[in-house]
Amino acid sequence: MAILVTGSAGRIGSRVVDRLLAEGQTVTGFDLRSAGRSQPGYREIVGAFDDPAAAREAVKDAEAILHLGAFMSWLTADADKVFRANVDGTRILMEEAAGVKPARIVFASSGEVYPENVPDYLPVDENHPLKPRSAYGLSKQLGEEIIRLTERSAGIPATILRFSHTQDAAELLDETSFFSGPRFFLQPKIRQQEAFGNAAAVAALKAVDDGTPALVLSRNENGRPFRMHITDSRDMVDGILLALKSEKAAGRTYNLGATAPVDFADALPLMAQATGLPLKTVDLPGSGVFYETSNARIRAELGFEPQWTIERMIAEAAAARAARAKAG
Ligand code: NAD
Repeated sequence: MAILVTGSAGRIGSRVVDRLLAEGQTVTGFDLRSAGRSQPGYREIVGAFDDPAAAREAVKDAEAILHLGAFMSWLTADADKVFRANVDGTRILMEEAAGVKPARIVFASSGEVYPENVPDYLPVDENHPLKPRSAYGLSKQLGEEIIRLTERSAGIPATILRFSHTQDAAELLDETSFFSGPRFFLQPKIRQQEAFGNAAAVAALKAVDDGTPALVLSRNENGRPFRMHITDSRDMVDGILLALKSEKAAGRTYNLGATAPVDFADALPLMAQATGLPLKTVDLPGSGVFYETSNARIRAELGFEPQWTIERMIAEAAAARAARAKAG
């Protein structure tokens, strides 16, 4: 099968390309960045999703499209770029796809289409009202609508996957990484909160900063530890390929992610043990991060079974951190 994978240089897309090529599929990658790979059966289009000429070239001959690329940012200054990449980019890609009529589209949406931290009920399932609270979350909701419009108007069966927060295990204990740096490491978190203009959070974090590297256990203003799903990229790839290959997935929408959420009060001491870094507990202003999302539908309908618990991810992250330290 000839499969277009967008976001092919990214965390999840690059692993999907690896798996498809290993299966002997023909793959086109489409990304702003080159993945720097040259393998038999692989063709690459480097360009922006909202560039019609690049999108036309990318969808050429596609029998399936995995639209996994997007721009992720929560900075107000990036909202324009978020909407251009994720909304206009998806619209233009789908306009081109309508002329090619692939047999299936799989779209990477996000749990941020829900009001994850102020849900109407927990666990959040696919019937929960969509009420995004960020420009990024709204861009994914609009992306979903564009995908469904394409399904109705061009007759292309589509599957929407609302992705959990996802990381490569090796990123978890890397203070320079985009997600884990500001989530778990004190000084990167201070810099992130400064960029967001959250003065009260900055003050609370700085109060425990003695200038040496440390991990931070984030809790809300009432001392409730943060809780969220953190899914390993490899489990996400399994779910994406199940959605691609299953007839039952046509027209369906699924939450895709780890079964159990990660309680920071459990995970951070394990991270401290794995790194030898001190752990600081900080109560941040507001209600904080606290949610649980159900993956029951994709498990029941497609047989999705995630393999990577947070404990397994931390063990692999510790080995990756040690290897980085050794390499200098
Ligand atoms: P990533 O940032 O590693 O990869 C995204 C890729 O998209 C990048 O390689 C980037 O260059 C490319 N891209 C961005 N804007 C583009 C544009 N305008 N034109 C062409 N390419 C563009 O992200 P990831 O973690 O691999 O995420 C994959 C998908 O999953 C994305 O759609 C993301 O929104 C979604 N998602 C991710 C998470 C997560 O926690 N990682 C959570 C929910 C949803």
